[in-house]
Amino acid sequence: MSDWIKRDEQSIWHPFTQLVNGFEHIMVEKAEGAYLYTSDGRKILDAISSWWVNLHGHSHPAIAKAVAEQALNLEHVIFAGFTHEPAITLAENLLSILPPNQSKIFYSDNGSTANEVALKMAFQYWYNKGQQKRTKVIAFEGAYHGDTFGAMSVGDRGPFSAPFSPFLFDVEFLPMPTEENKQEVVDQFQHLVAANEVAAFIFEPLILGSAGMKMYTAEILDELIQFAQAHETICIADEVFTGFGRTGKYFASDYLAHKPDIFCLSKGLTGGAMALGVTSCTEKIMDAYKSADIMKTFFHGHSFTANPIACAAANASFHLLKSSDTQEKISKINQLHLEFYELLKLHKAVENCRVLGTILALDIKTKEVTSYVNEVRHKLYPYFLERNILLRPLGNVIYILPPYIITEKELKRVYKEVLGLLDSFQ
Ligand SMILES: *Cc1c(COP(=O)(O)O)cnc(C)c1O
Repeated sequence: MSDWIKRDEQSIWHPFTQLVNGFEHIMVEKAEGAYLYTSDGRKILDAISSWWVNLHGHSHPAIAKAVAEQALNLEHVIFAGFTHEPAITLAENLLSILPPNQSKIFYSDNGSTANEVALKMAFQYWYNKGQQKRTKVIAFEGAYHGDTFGAMSVGDRGPFSAPFSPFLFDVEFLPMPTEENKQEVVDQFQHLVAANEVAAFIFEPLILGSAGMKMYTAEILDELIQFAQAHETICIADEVFTGFGRTGKYFASDYLAHKPDIFCLSKGLTGGAMALGVTSCTEKIMDAYKSADIMKTFFHGHSFTANPIACAAANASFHLLKSSDTQEKISKINQLHLEFYELLKLHKAVENCRVLGTILALDIKTKEVTSYVNEVRHKLYPYFLERNILLRPLGNVIYILPPYIITEKELKRVYKEVLGLLDSFQ
């Protein structure tokens, strides 16, 4: 046994990892572009952007340079009472691509905290306005908004949250809208919202990522947002996963006519290099906090709020994202996905194939229902790793969401291995 395996086992508790004997983590020594280089000499193609965060490839020189320069100049400073250029520039950069109704940027340090901030911002908005009855929240069944308590409360009540269910606050869960249940969901939603007690409606726009890349239409979401906003319910778009080009546009909400009131961003924000979270809001929301009354202050912050190194990484990633080169790459991935989709939809082992921007997902037909704990998962993950491709299926759902720098040849290699696996299921 290698020395590091023992050291890792003796000292580290890994996330989302069942503690059973004999599980070996893979040691990554270096990463570059779309590849992870392991200690046993393998070169693994990262087809899921390392937990959906990477945009421009690993160890990108422009981001690395921005990080190094920032670290040598100002590595961190308390963000209450002080400010700095990387945070101001990043706020301006983000506001330049967010919908025009977004007017202020609040920083935190990951996706869960971005959502916690959004919920607290919405709840206190009503508190500050003296409307004590506005305490309800609407979310979708199966949603994922993070692993902290507020984020867990508005997320899927399944195996992951079961041990904590007595500690989670009440939420009105509606099924994700589909062609079949559409009218039912709209009716339930309108019934809840019309009582004027719903503080906020939180959703992952167009795609429930962790639930298994489940997609729904912009039309129906638009209809829900329009009704919610007519009743002043605050609409929170959790774009932690969908932001920064993943869906083919800067934000999934760019597909909507009615713009959400609050946006949550993280994952791709720094190009996947540093931990950073953002919650943006409208002027109207912020106005409810402008007061001489100290009780109307938003008392929320983290030690590493707006960390300058993370902001510098985000600014470097922003410039890469806006370049025509990256935009062409995003379109190209989408085009290749759509071609592969045509092939997949005829495959006997495939159910419900779908594409949105740079995301392609399919369900493998199994006897069990589609879910994270579906047994088939234990076969899929090693299957691809043995072929030096990193794909991390959610149950029987296989999805591909590569860093944008992946080449046509590399992407076609991923497709080929996916097809090979599917053929083995026939
Ligand atoms: C990953 C994710 C989160 C949580 O972000 P963390 O940085 O892992 O806390 C929240 N919402 C969505 C939609 C996500 O995909």
